Order: sequence, then structure tokens, then C-alpha cells
Amino acid sequence: MSTIDNLPPLRQVIETHGIAAKKSMGQNFLLDLNLTAKIARQAGDLTGCDVLEVGPGPGGLTRGLLSEGARRVLAIEKDSRCMPALEEISAAYPGKLQVINADALNLDPLAYLTPPIRVVANLPYNVGTELLVRWLTPADWPPFWQSLTLMFQKEVAERIVARPGSKAYGRLAILAQWRTDARIVMELPPEAFTPPPKIKSAVVHLTALPQPRYPADPATLSRVVAMAFNQRRKMLRSALKGISPDIEELLIAAGLKPTDRAEQVPIEGFCALAREMAR
Ligand code: SAM
Repeated sequence: MSTIDNLPPLRQVIETHGIAAKKSMGQNFLLDLNLTAKIARQAGDLTGCDVLEVGPGPGGLTRGLLSEGARRVLAIEKDSRCMPALEEISAAYPGKLQVINADALNLDPLAYLTPPIRVVANLPYNVGTELLVRWLTPADWPPFWQSLTLMFQKEVAERIVARPGSKAYGRLAILAQWRTDARIVMELPPEAFTPPPKIKSAVVHLTALPQPRYPADPATLSRVVAMAFNQRRKMLRSALKGISPDIEELLIAAGLKPTDRAEQVPIEGFCALAREMAR
């Protein structure tokens, strides 16, 4: 394990401050600072950016973000036991790190950040997915962030980047890829974490597009996609029959085959259908 700053190694930080990982908080820590710096680099050039980090824990990734030159880091951590360790990092990087002890699901970070903003997080997987959906569905587009670099369970990461025709393709893929470029940039084995989780993990990097890939009303698109994938084995004409009595005509007008199944339809097709419905 190497050091990227003059702070103590993370194992020592955890021992000094009594931050043994708690399952109830979804804590699986990254203790290798080479690895956390590598994850920070996946977020792109941080030098001119404010970074929102959610769930810093003992601060491994936080230290990676700061050593990679982030202009400022706002770190939101729910577990108050981590505060003294994070304060030490703050002292080592004067004026660069602000820590807030809060539940990220209940805090609006915007007041604390100045654009351009990048988001980086290694969160418990359920919180990560909930925040991802929120970040992908703001009232207005483009969103407050330029990019999201997030750790997920590998299976969820595969659903985010899935292409039509694959089993993993569904609502999450469409939600993500309609308005972002989404890529898996790293895969991590369980042993990378302390304690090791049961599953493999992957880092997904999403870059916000200036505007949606294809025009569509977000609420209509979301409704169509939810219905289509709710019964993903059915043909579109039956899966979507609750939407309109004229669903076959709408599908044909959108350039889709009524006998296709949801997982064969590219994002462009769902957007065309949403536009036909809005007519
Ligand atoms: N980022 C650290 C790392 O990579 O070692 C910690 C990762 S650990 C998987 C997840 C962290 O998120 C924990 O520190 C946990 O306390 C924190 N956390 C869990 N739920 C949270 C929430 N709702 N808001 C903010 N932090 C949360």
C-alpha cells in the first residue's frame, strides 16, 4: 500500500478513530490509496471542478480526489464516527474539503457547490441506485453535474450500459443512455474492499449530454418504458395496450413493429413512440 499524501495509512486511521465497517451502514471500505487515486482519475480532469463525494467513510477516495487536484470537494457522510478522520484530511488540504454529516438522500448539495461539478461516489448499492435515478431525472436538462463516477454492483453497472437485445437492457439503460454517455471504466474484485462483499463491483462513468439524444417528453417516455418492460416478454401491442386503444397505429407511426418485444427496441424507438403519444 502506498501513500499519496502525508496522512496516515487508512488501516491506521480506521483503528485510531474506531471506524470498523458496519454492515448496517453498507460499509465496504477501499483502503488502497493507489486504487482510490485510480478511481478518482476515471472522473476526468478535476483541477477546475468542484467534486461532490457521497459516502466518503474513512476518506480513501476523498484523498484520491484531492491528490488528483480537485478544486474543492464536498463530502457528505451519514456516519458521524467518520467525522474526525475526515477533519484530518480537511486540515491537510486547507480550504479544499468541506464535510457534512448528513444523509445524502435528505440534503440538497447545490448551495455548497460551484459549477463545473463532478459527482464521485462509492456508496451502498441501494443508496447509489436511488441517487443515480434522481441525478438522471432533474426538472431541467442539462443537470447540475457534468459527470457521475459511481461504484455499483457489477450486475447493476451492466444494466446501466446495456444495449438493446441483451437481457440486462431495460429501464435503467434507457434512463441513463437517453441523456448521458455511460461506460464501465473499472471492474473490482471483492478483495479490493474491507470487508469484501459477496459480489463483484464496477465503476460506471456517465457524462451528461448537452441535450437528450432524441427528443421526447421525459414523463411520457418514462411511462412508456416502464409499461413496456413491466411485461418484457410480451409483444409491445399487448404490453402497451393499457396506454391507448390505438396502440398498434401508434407503434407503426413510430416505426416500430407491434410484434416486437421491449428489449429489442432501441432508445430512439421509445422516444419516437413517446412523441406519437404526445401528438
Ligand atoms: N467511500 C468510502 C470508500 O470508498 O472506502 C466508503 C464506501 S462505503 C461502501 C459507503 C459509505 O457511504 C459509508 O461510509 C457509509 O457510512 C456511507 N453512507 C451510507 N449511506 C449513506 C447516505 N444515505 N448518505 C451519506 N452517506 C452514506
